Amino acid sequence: MIGGITPLTVTPADEELAQASIDIIEILFKPNFHAVGAALRTKSGKLYTAVHLEAGIGRIAVCAEAIVLGKAISEGETEFDAIVAALHQDDGKVNVCSPCGMCRELLTDYQKDIDVILLENGKLLKCKMMDLLPLKYSGVGT
Ligand SMILES: [Zn+2]
Repeated sequence: MIGGITPLTVTPADEELAQASIDIIEILFKPNFHAVGAALRTKSGKLYTAVHLEAGIGRIAVCAEAIVLGKAISEGETEFDAIVAALHQDDGKVNVCSPCGMCRELLTDYQKDIDVILLENGKLLKCKMMDLLPLKYSGVGT
């Protein structure tokens, strides 16, 4: 256990998902517009990818995880297995990155038991998103 995280087995399908998040941002990286990619796997095994939308006013930027979730839902998907995001750094390196707090909240609103793939000491680490969100927001309407 790593600080409340219970590691799950990283499968070849998880490695493929992580690579998909890296591939999409390597292909579509555009400075000041797209620096993060995300890949989402449904419970049926289908993959969706998307990039984030940067904005001149930073607070209206939209995370890649939110966009890929909306893309999948718009295609009729309702059950989600795992998600991973990758960051294209200014030096050109691309690595899996951790989802921000808002994405942790959003994704667990739509799939409470969704898995997330992270990078820990250079290796992929899979865990439940809820492991990253103790005491999840439980406000009005939830
Ligand atoms: Zn986010």
